[in-house]
Amino acid sequence: MEKIRVGMSSCLMGINVRYDGGHKLDSSLIDTLEHYFKLIPICPEVECGLGIPRKPMLLEDNQGSSRLIIIETEEDVTELVIDWALKRVVQLEKENIRGFIFKSDSPSCGVRNVKVYNKNGVSDTDGVGIFSGMLIKHFPSLLVEDELNLKNYFLREDFIKKIFASKKSPVR
Ligand code: SF4
Repeated sequence: MEKIRVGMSSCLMGINVRYDGGHKLDSSLIDTLEHYFKLIPICPEVECGLGIPRKPMLLEDNQGSSRLIIIETEEDVTELVIDWALKRVVQLEKENIRGFIFKSDSPSCGVRNVKVYNKNGVSDTDGVGIFSGMLIKHFPSLLVEDELNLKNYFLREDFIKKIFASKKSPVR
């Protein structure tokens, strides 16, 4: 029988997609998760066309809405990610993913406590990444976590159990 599908930020799987051309592989986490799940790598910044390498970005507050901004040029690339994500979340639903493991602290992938800067450069840490936020909104019942929490043995076990419990229909 096919394994349950779970999405994952590509950089956590050792794929060189980060802005600097590197990755953030956590081998022991991947080994554990691949035992149970088929991991589907996704990098919103690369898949939407921002390229590798690319200039570092951050989230900036604009009247209560987070915008994805290239730090050096101040270019707002939020719509690029949103346009791509609107189609990608529908595909992921069809692919029957049951959960998603995101890279922490990322302005595109973070699920909690992402820094959001105001025009004066002061940050607050209540942000959610542009893509992760859209996926969570599209899939309110999707089980999501970041790699930081999954380093904790008990949280990881709990996440794995919840994914299995959420399996409602045979994986196609
Ligand atoms: S954190 Fe997300 S956007 Fe950034 S490199 Fe990893 S997968 Fe790509």
